[in-house]
Amino acid sequence: MPSQKSEELAAYRVNVNGIVQGVGYRPFVYRIASSLRLKGFVLNSGNGVLIEVEGKPGDCLRFIERLKTEKPPRAVVKTFSCMQIPPRGYRGFRVEQTRGEEVETLCPPDVAVCKDCLDELFNPRDRRHLYPFINCINCGPRFTILEKLPYDRVNTSMKTFKMCGDCEKEYSDPSDRRFKAEPNACSRCGPRARLYRRGRLMRVEEPVSEAARLINRGYIVAVKGYGGFHLACDATSRSSVTELRRRKKRGNKPFAIMVKSVEEARRIVELNDSEEKWLTHYSAPIILARKREPNPVVEEVAPGMRYLGVFLPYTPIHHVLMRSVEPPAIVLTSGNVSEEPIVFRDGEAFEKFKDMADYILTYNRRIVNFADDSVGFVQDGTLRLVRRSRGFVPEPVEVEPRVDGVLAMGADLNNTFALAKKGRVFMSQYMGDLENMLIRKRYLEAIRSMRRLLNLEYRRIAHDLHPAYYSTQIGVSLDGEKKGVQHHYAHVLSAMAENSILGLEVLGIAFDGTGYGEDGSLWGSEFLIVRRGEYVRRGHFKYLPMPGGEKAVLEPARMAFSYLYDAMGNDA
Ligand SMILES: [Zn+2]
Ligand SMILES: [Zn+2]
Repeated sequence: MPSQKSEELAAYRVNVNGIVQGVGYRPFVYRIASSLRLKGFVLNSGNGVLIEVEGKPGDCLRFIERLKTEKPPRAVVKTFSCMQIPPRGYRGFRVEQTRGEEVETLCPPDVAVCKDCLDELFNPRDRRHLYPFINCINCGPRFTILEKLPYDRVNTSMKTFKMCGDCEKEYSDPSDRRFKAEPNACSRCGPRARLYRRGRLMRVEEPVSEAARLINRGYIVAVKGYGGFHLACDATSRSSVTELRRRKKRGNKPFAIMVKSVEEARRIVELNDSEEKWLTHYSAPIILARKREPNPVVEEVAPGMRYLGVFLPYTPIHHVLMRSVEPPAIVLTSGNVSEEPIVFRDGEAFEKFKDMADYILTYNRRIVNFADDSVGFVQDGTLRLVRRSRGFVPEPVEVEPRVDGVLAMGADLNNTFALAKKGRVFMSQYMGDLENMLIRKRYLEAIRSMRRLLNLEYRRIAHDLHPAYYSTQIGVSLDGEKKGVQHHYAHVLSAMAENSILGLEVLGIAFDGTGYGEDGSLWGSEFLIVRRGEYVRRGHFKYLPMPGGEKAVLEPARMAFSYLYDAMGNDA
């Protein structure tokens, strides 16, 4: 009897929000629903993932319970809501097309190639053997190829590649690990690597392996990764490293090295368990670790430093490259002219690397958003990022109270900006020093593209108090209500936001170079009592003259003299 049948059925609508698109959430839901023989659908909406299930009441509850306690490895569930609805008589469980609405979801960061894909990459019988753009629902480029949300192939730079029959089949099969993997591709239908010498395309069978052989022979090769180009050379060759340093005009600043494997990394730097955990993490940051003595990497890589920045291959290109590279490590430093931004467009690469790289290894998929490598060190098991960029951006930081509609400009050195929407703060990728005109141009472009990408609007602009900062001048020139925030106070506030204690009264201690003070003098080491969005300057180091103004920051001897003069007067 129909009435009895409907009594046996229960139905629920579930909404899940957070980082749930581009991380395999829909196939995950499909698998649970199928295993419980539930009917209904799952889809990506502008407001996260929407699910309707119906079936036996107990099975529905088990389904909801599992969604609450399990998730795909990289998903971050921020909100979860569910309500009972009348059963609709679905015939099966379907994964449906994305519904376009107001976009509220988050864009996933780029992910290092996963173990399943690596197994295929190096399996001679696999159809993607050595294909340098292999990816799946759990790995691959995300932020760097995304033009706008929702995260669907048509909104990425993969839209120009039409999937072949085999790829299409994987993409449409809910039981396949490439189901809805937006950058899905193979050597027949996807992007291709290309090797150039002095702007001329080289006819080689395997451009990536060929590039590795060139590195072995001592050449400097520009290599396009997820977020931009790197310059690569043999890290065990004194002449190659010295030549790269000369061409890059880099002085004595350290280079990062990409190491073949964790085993090799252990021979070069000292690593504890948590450092190894972060080194092999899917966000793949550069980890600063103590040099082992002796080690095979030449001193010229990081002259006079006790630490080395090391990272592992994270794109399939890097994996294929490192497989054919002979030394255990290569220098892989950001591809830019000294002080300029990272190069991420092919045309720019040909021009900028004319005298810097002997060869250029690139590919025909556009990088939409540039992103430098992230850099950090591990302290008490926690990763401390000194540069938060590729692999982390644009994952937001949640703050309470819920800031909304704010653009924060950041300072001039090592700039990042931030946009806040409904309690989420989206920090930008690493920009660099705004003193460089090209970086300022990039900064304005990035503000525009981040707004478009995340569908963010701002009404208020927070900028540094320093009137001479470029970030201040640019901020003041934009439309919106402006507010200057003292530099050290901003440091204390961000530490409070990161630790979710914005509501408390705290003593904030900020030791930082020059920060323009409320009284017009340059502040340095500040003790601030912060309460309810205001602060009192409780203590600071004594004011001293700065001979030569801000030049004294770059030349500490000037300050040493100032201190001596203060203590000894004319005897100094
Ligand atoms: Zn994968
Ligand atoms: Zn294909």
